[in-house]
Amino acid sequence: MNKEQVDASSETVKTNFIHQEIDKDLAENKNGGAVLTRFPPEPNGYLHIGHAKSICLNFSLGQQFGGACNLRFDDTNPVKEDVEYVDSIKEDVQWLGFDWPGEAKFASDYFDQLYAWAVALIRNGKAYVDDQSAETIASQKGTPTTPGTESPFRNRSVEENIDLFERMKNGEFKAGEKVLRAKIDMTSPNMHMRDPLMYRIIHSDHHRTGDKWCVYPMYDFAHGQEDFIEGITHSICTLEFEVHRPLYDWFLTQIIEADASLKDRVRPRQIEFARLNLNYTVMSKRKLLELVEKNIVSGWDDPRMPTVSGLRRRGYTPESIRTFADKVGVARRDGVIDVALLESCIREDLNKKAARVNAVVDPIKLIITNYPEGQEEYVDIINNPEDESMGSRKLPFSREVYIERDDFMEDAPKKFFRLTVGKELRLKAAYAITCTGLKKDENGNIEELYATYDPETKSGATTVDRKIKGVIHWVSAAHAVDAEVRVYDRLYNHEAPAAQKDADHLDFINKDSLKTITAKVEPSLTEAKPLDQFQFQRVGYFCVDKDSTSDKLIFNRTVALKDGWAKKK
Ligand code: ATP
Ligand code: MG
Repeated sequence: MNKEQVDASSETVKTNFIHQEIDKDLAENKNGGAVLTRFPPEPNGYLHIGHAKSICLNFSLGQQFGGACNLRFDDTNPVKEDVEYVDSIKEDVQWLGFDWPGEAKFASDYFDQLYAWAVALIRNGKAYVDDQSAETIASQKGTPTTPGTESPFRNRSVEENIDLFERMKNGEFKAGEKVLRAKIDMTSPNMHMRDPLMYRIIHSDHHRTGDKWCVYPMYDFAHGQEDFIEGITHSICTLEFEVHRPLYDWFLTQIIEADASLKDRVRPRQIEFARLNLNYTVMSKRKLLELVEKNIVSGWDDPRMPTVSGLRRRGYTPESIRTFADKVGVARRDGVIDVALLESCIREDLNKKAARVNAVVDPIKLIITNYPEGQEEYVDIINNPEDESMGSRKLPFSREVYIERDDFMEDAPKKFFRLTVGKELRLKAAYAITCTGLKKDENGNIEELYATYDPETKSGATTVDRKIKGVIHWVSAAHAVDAEVRVYDRLYNHEAPAAQKDADHLDFINKDSLKTITAKVEPSLTEAKPLDQFQFQRVGYFCVDKDSTSDKLIFNRTVALKDGWAKKK
């Protein structure tokens, strides 16, 4: 762990600096003590773990200060947005355990108001229509140390601007032919203040407003005003928006100047925090979409994806993600969090909650030669040693069982505490067995193991007079059910796949991130339902895939029992 990670994991949401800032505002009785935050996703992709952090932060601030958190879709770009994303985002927020007051809100609900405000700015000589192309405008921006160049259209008359903007709205011009710009200061040291774009022309149907609009507000002209309309008191966003803050203030000031009746409304206070970055992961929706579109993963909910839906399908619980968000804390500096922290959160949660079951992921058959052929019995086995209330179940036992191939070693060193010829150990919850021999195929691979059992050693019996070291799990061969088990590794083999010069994140895809194996599992698992979670004893945590049925069981490995599965393999 580097220092950033240590800092991050020792903070908790309760004491983060945003809390302290809100506390100060409340002490001054700002906004009459109200606290309203918002989570404002653009519906152009599925939510990822970074969004989850922002959701946990915003919704819990709302809760903890007796206020609320709005869900608002920033649907200002119809080209990339879709209802599929709107629906998935709502589902994910609720699954994480949060809810918003009333209906979800949409930037598009405010298009009329935003348009009216843009017109008000034009009337006050604070905005103008520019006929130049995007490239020309960009070339006039200047640099942080040299001033920009004013557009030749900057001093158009108010009447002409109003007329042109209206005709832009009515669809008289092609995309890119004209834009509306704020008239601020082409020499400002803050590049965002150099006559930023407010509106552009887009001829594309919007998923909510259809073909009503041919002009759409830029994020920068929309976001602050949306907060203002909703009465958001604290507008929490990521650090890159810090430099946009003066622009948001400028827009609101102009709007209030144009309409004095707005002057007593709550003005949102923007507070920035560092976005979450995870190693071995990409977190940009554009890159995640690329993984989906290029079929590198099976979809947005592929269990290797850092999306909320991928994590859910992988077996992550809402609690584990909330704990992770808490442990990461809220920082003012960018840092990278170790994905191992996320894994430790789910391990901790599932250790308490997941029923233990017997499943053998790399089976080899062991025949107990002195156990009567055709006989079967049921042994009691507890479901979770961490939680007695989860009870116990009956597990079938018979003459032939499957054990893990790596629980046996032919030429075992002294320190090998599992099975080898001549050694006694316990089949968990059943009997002590002693390995007596093995059979190999023509290539020298072990095909079968042989053992004898001691009937006096049945689990729970008090008569056993010797210490039996070593316990392994098993599944009765006659009762075992085949299950497809999907074992995931990191999707990328580079710590920072998105941050390499001259390389694309796709250059670092781990080709072995999915291994599919057939395991032998205990028969009770045919009753498991999609998303049910289990600990395969001594192997790891697994969850039932959404496509699993009682005829074809499919499990996803959520996480190995201990960090370092890769080493064991
Ligand atoms: P992307 O760049 O991947 O498209 P985005 O930030 O543009 O992500 P939005 O839909 O605008 O995606 O995000 C909604 C909210 O989630 C924003 O308020 C943003 O601050 C927050 N958010 C996005 N990514 C992260 C992250 N990695 N860590 C914390 N918060 C994030
Ligand atoms: Mg964004």
